[in-house]
Amino acid sequence: MGDPMKKVPVREQDPKVRATNFEEVCLGYDAEEAVAEASRCLTCKKPLCVEGCPVNINIPGFISYVKSGEFEKAYAVISESSSLPSVCGRVCPQERQCEGKCIRGIKGESIAIGKLERFVGDTARAEGWKPTTAVEQNGRKVAVIGSGPAGLTCAGDLAKLGYSVTIFEALHKPGGVLVYGIPEFRLPKDGVVIPEIENIKKLGVEIETNVIVGKSVTIDQLINDEGFEAVFVGSGAGLPKFMGIPGEQANGVYSANEYLTRSNLMKAFAEDSDTPIMRAKCVAVVGGGNVAMDAARTALRLGAETHIVYRRSEAELPARAEEVHHAKEEGIVFDLLCNPEEILVDENGWVKGIRCIRMELGEPDASGRRSPVEIPGSQFVIDADMVIMALGTSPNPLLTSTTKGLDVNRRGGLIINEESCMTTRDGVFAGGDAVTGAATVILAMGAGKAAAKGIDEYLRAKA
Ligand SMILES: Cc1cc2nc3c(=O)[nH]c(=O)nc-3n(C[C@H](O)[C@H](O)[C@H](O)COP(=O)(O)OP(=O)(O)OC[C@H]3O[C@@H](n4cnc5c(N)ncnc54)[C@H](O)[C@@H]3O)c2cc1C
Ligand code: SF4
Repeated sequence: MGDPMKKVPVREQDPKVRATNFEEVCLGYDAEEAVAEASRCLTCKKPLCVEGCPVNINIPGFISYVKSGEFEKAYAVISESSSLPSVCGRVCPQERQCEGKCIRGIKGESIAIGKLERFVGDTARAEGWKPTTAVEQNGRKVAVIGSGPAGLTCAGDLAKLGYSVTIFEALHKPGGVLVYGIPEFRLPKDGVVIPEIENIKKLGVEIETNVIVGKSVTIDQLINDEGFEAVFVGSGAGLPKFMGIPGEQANGVYSANEYLTRSNLMKAFAEDSDTPIMRAKCVAVVGGGNVAMDAARTALRLGAETHIVYRRSEAELPARAEEVHHAKEEGIVFDLLCNPEEILVDENGWVKGIRCIRMELGEPDASGRRSPVEIPGSQFVIDADMVIMALGTSPNPLLTSTTKGLDVNRRGGLIINEESCMTTRDGVFAGGDAVTGAATVILAMGAGKAAAKGIDEYLRAKA
């Protein structure tokens, strides 16, 4: 056994090789490595890791089974709380959640909980293990709008309770951001996301794709004409934001959402794809979150010299530390403490550069973060022929504009009762990014779980 204070290292594709392909970067643990890593767990009496998990997975419980090599039992423990272990093991910000609280992490390195969860999820898929289904159907219908992690989790939990659940999804493939946003090299679609969605379908959940609720059918029609007794809105926050600077309308300016959707959902990165995507020489990605890292790493793989332009310093980058580390290893240039002022446009309307100004950190703002302040006269130009705006997103107003009684806050998020997750409209519940604005997969899953409980209580009381 290695040093018990240190994580068992995980194998990854070489940075030089992976910068030219869309294969998964992290290769995960094999059984021997997983058992060795699990053996570092202290099986704490008061496991703080569980408190750090938004869906309260029994972490020491599943890790104990990994330690003893009983992987199917480990899967059963995780399945009690999560239907997407292979997804969460790959994309959750564990360093800020379970691993951030791990007691082993006080004197040494925390347990690699995410990598162990991924190992268990991947092993279950390889072995064909399935989550347990409902004992008895109760014949009551619930509609779920959106098939991202919030909708999938809500639907799965309700199906396990015996409800007949139909998910309505606007796109032609289910999965939400897991399919259209997060790139293949972080989260393989056919190998990981689709099989986990298939498991949720095996619980009895039906998924109807190409249905835009608010256009193809309204929430009122679902309730009044189609016999759904409750509706869960998990429609996410897919509306991109822009800076409002000169030149933003030029050819060669993308929102990160559009760029990533073309590449991930429509497979534009593949040579034989019909979907066009611009293959630029030099790309500036504006923003510092996970979305910015994903867009930058995609542009790099499509052959461009790629810059991240972010107005604060490295310490404030909102992206996961692992994503920043991977991006740097692959050769992304970080232009930190820089803010774009104008996108320069050539005579044909195409991007020919981006003029930025250097910043320094001043006093902390209302959020406690030090505000960036411009350094006069420090302008410089990045000779980019493409710019990707990754400045965050907000909920799409389509559902609220077509449904009476659905109130939103000033950021466009649906207002819900914290306990029941019901919106301001009776029988309509909501959760995930549609409520909070852009957040994380596991928070959306936690919201989907809480809403399933709220819906069950509401329908039992109504019966
Ligand atoms: C590029 C990118 C990278 C990210 N990386 C990470 C990461 O590494 N880790 C992490 O934890 N989080 C990450 N996130 C955030 C995370 O993916 C989201 O917080 C999460 O997916 C939100 O889940 P959701 O179910 O609320 O919404 P979504 O995943 O957005 O799903 C909403 C679904 O609803 C559908 N929909 C919308 N309107 C309608 C309608 N009217 N009718 C029918 N269907 C509709 C949409 O098509 C979509 O499929 C990332 C986000 C992006 C964009
Ligand atoms: S806090 Fe860390 S060491 Fe303790 S049970 Fe959880 S994973 Fe194991």
